[in-house]
Amino acid sequence: MNHPENDKEYKGLAVNAGIEQPSSVSPYLKGRTRRKKPNLSVGDFVDGILKGDVTILSQAVTLVESVRPEHHAIAQEVIEKCLPYSGKSIRIGISGVPGAGKSTSIDVFGLHVLGKYDGKLAVLAIDPSSERSKGSILGDKTRMEKLSVHPKSFIRPSPTAGSLGGVARKTRETIILCEAAGFDKIFVETVGVGQSETAVHSMVDFFLLIQLAGTGDELQGIKRGIMEMADGIVINKADGDNIDRAKLAATQFRNALHLFPAPDSGWTPQVLTYSGFYNLGVKEIWDMVYHYIDFVKDNGYFEYRRNEQSKYWMYESINEQLRDSFYHNPKIETMLVDKENQVLQGSLTSFVAAKGLLDTYFKELRGEI
Ligand code: GDP
Repeated sequence: MNHPENDKEYKGLAVNAGIEQPSSVSPYLKGRTRRKKPNLSVGDFVDGILKGDVTILSQAVTLVESVRPEHHAIAQEVIEKCLPYSGKSIRIGISGVPGAGKSTSIDVFGLHVLGKYDGKLAVLAIDPSSERSKGSILGDKTRMEKLSVHPKSFIRPSPTAGSLGGVARKTRETIILCEAAGFDKIFVETVGVGQSETAVHSMVDFFLLIQLAGTGDELQGIKRGIMEMADGIVINKADGDNIDRAKLAATQFRNALHLFPAPDSGWTPQVLTYSGFYNLGVKEIWDMVYHYIDFVKDNGYFEYRRNEQSKYWMYESINEQLRDSFYHNPKIETMLVDKENQVLQGSLTSFVAAKGLLDTYFKELRGEI
């Protein structure tokens, strides 16, 4: 059958060849694929840090925090080269339970010390419980609104979750890099819930404990050990109708501190009240901290404490590396589960199991197996 549209006169129905489809990638971007960051050499890192270049400092801290052995190796070299330029700062540990007002306080504390004493401030954190993917509780820049945009501040969140020792070591190494970059005031924040205070205490010159006035039995809540570490206890939120309760809490803390043996520093820990939110009593806190620094620099305790800390970190570092070497030994890794099961089943005592594992480890080191 002859359809009229097949007639040559209906040419218009013919399908055109069409045009070439344009690429979905903009021609302007072609050839501009993301270039990898140039790899900096150890010398580049050290130069950048010594010049106070915060971008390079951040990159170096990232290497310190990295779990990759090649990063670790570069980081160690950078730290070693920065070490002679470090140490010239005051290091302050700031601890308090969540909600005590650490972020609010550090924001005003930071602005106060930068305003009054010049220089540069780095705020670091130790929070072994946090994982960056879940959002770090500590060190999050948005928590310190004013300080985070201050040109002389450097805020770095806690290294990602890991063993407390590992997280603390990274923070201590970061202190060295920050000092070499000219940061002469270092705050190390930690959440006041456990052992992380000991770690912070082992790397700072002054340990400031932020407390809240509670229901009258606040002293029960804090571990004796943490109070004993404090060089200053400050009761936050002394504002509005909370002032009297804060003063009462301060008296209770003062009385409690009298029961502890006198600290080696010869310094009597002070108890003050303040309001971070309303910026009341902040000056007094920092007068106290600087008074302490003068006091311990005069009597030699400042130097002594830093030396003791260096010694402590040498042993910590040895312990960490020995543990690592033991637990990452392939032979040990395969034996561990088995031994653990035997201990659980009661067919092996813990002591004998441990001895067996250690013997194997040392024999292997000596090349005997
Ligand atoms: P952090 O968890 O220790 O970092 O505590 P934040 O700084 O986040 O403070 C916890 C809550 O306490 C926030 O709602 C703050 O606004 C409030 N806060 C902090 N400092 C003060 C203060 O001095 N007075 C009062 N009334 N509230 C405060």
